[in-house]
Amino acid sequence: MTVAKRTAIRAGYVIAFDGKGHRLLRDGVVVVEGDNILHVGPRFDGRVDETVDAPDRVLTPGLISTHAHISGSPLDRSFIEDCGNPQFWFSGLFEMLPVRSDSQDEEAGRACVDFSMAELLRGGVTTVMEIGTLGDYVVERAPHYGLRVYMGQAFRSGKWLTRDGKRVVWEWNEEQGRQGLKRAMDFHQRWDGAHGDLVRCFVSPSQIDTCTPELLKDAKRFADEVKRPYQVHTSQSVVEFNEMVQRHGKTPIAWMKELGVLGQNTVLGHAIIIGGSSWTNYPDGDIRLMAEAGCSVAHAVWVFARRGVAMESFGRYREAGVNMSLGTDTNPQSVIEAMRWAAVVSKMMERNTEATTAPTPSTRPPSVGPARSCVTISAASPLAPRPISCSGRRRRGG
Ligand SMILES: [Zn+2]
Repeated sequence: MTVAKRTAIRAGYVIAFDGKGHRLLRDGVVVVEGDNILHVGPRFDGRVDETVDAPDRVLTPGLISTHAHISGSPLDRSFIEDCGNPQFWFSGLFEMLPVRSDSQDEEAGRACVDFSMAELLRGGVTTVMEIGTLGDYVVERAPHYGLRVYMGQAFRSGKWLTRDGKRVVWEWNEEQGRQGLKRAMDFHQRWDGAHGDLVRCFVSPSQIDTCTPELLKDAKRFADEVKRPYQVHTSQSVVEFNEMVQRHGKTPIAWMKELGVLGQNTVLGHAIIIGGSSWTNYPDGDIRLMAEAGCSVAHAVWVFARRGVAMESFGRYREAGVNMSLGTDTNPQSVIEAMRWAAVVSKMMERNTEATTAPTPSTRPPSVGPARSCVTISAASPLAPRPISCSGRRRRGG
C-alpha cells in the first residue's frame, strides 16, 4: 500500500476554520496528506515528507468567486472601466457592453478564458461560477489549471440596445430564449460532473429584464430538478429597475418572488439597485424579501464602485440575514480585492467603521438546495495551497 505524501505548510497567517467560523492563526501550520487536510494548528509534531516555509504569506482556504465573466474579461479593461453615461445612470450595459461583445471573436474569448483562469488562481480563487457562452472551452481548460468551475451557459429572450443614445429598448426573440435554455440543458447533461466532478453546471438566464417570465420559470424548474444553483443578473441598473416597475408594478426582486423563482438555490447577480437604495428612491422591502427567501447575493463590488455606484450596504444585507457572497465579475479577478472594497464601501455607506469589518471570505459556494448542501473546499481542490507554496521555500523532511 502506498502512503500518501504529507506536506506541511508553515505560514505567517493561516485562515483557519473552527467548525463555527474563520479564525486568524498567527504562525500556523497546515498539513496536507494526499487530498485531505490532516491538521491545522499552531504546530505539528508528526511525520511530514516535505515542508513549505512561507513566513510572510497568508494561507487561506480556496476562495470562491460566485460571479464572473471570464470569456469577456480582461478585454473590458480600459474600455468600459471608470466611465459611464449619466443618461443610463453610469451603467455600461446598454451602449458599451454590446459593442465590446460584438467586436470579439471566439479566439479572443478563448484567450480571455486562459488569462482569467490564471488570474483567478493567482489571487487564491480555486472555484469560480462562470456565466458566459464559451462553456465547452471553459470545461476543456478547467483541469489544465486545476480550477473548480461551475459553468452557467447564458441564454436570454431579448437584448438591449439604444438607437438614439437616450432610451434603452429591448429587442425580443422568444424562440432564441427557449433554444438557449435547451442548449444549456444539453450542456448540463454533457458536462455536469466532468473531470472527476471538477466541473459542475448551474442554470443562468442572463438578466431579469431580458428573459420572459416563462423562460425564468422553466429555467428555475430545471435548476431545482438537477439540484444546482440558479443565477440571474437582477437589480443591476436604474434603467432595469425602472423598466421592471413599469412592466410589472413591482421591483425586480418582488417580481421574482411573485414568479416563484426566489429560492435557496437562487443567486442574485448584483442586487444593488433595489427598493430602499438611494439610487431608486423607492420604498424598501427588497432586502427582507431576499432574506426571507434564503437566496444568495453575488456581490461584485468593484465593477460598480469604479463608476460611483455602491450597494447600500453590504453590512445591512448581511445583518438582515441575506446570504452574501463575493463575485469578481471582470478584471481584476481577485476576491481579495473584492473583500477589501466591499468592506471599505460598506463602511462609507454606513458612515460607521464598525458596520462591516471585512466580509467573511467566500469559501463555500452558494447553496444548491434546502439542505444547503454543496461541495466544500478542501485540499481536494488541487491548487488550494499553491498561491503560497510557489513562493515559499521548500525543503524535504519535517
Ligand atoms: Zn455579470
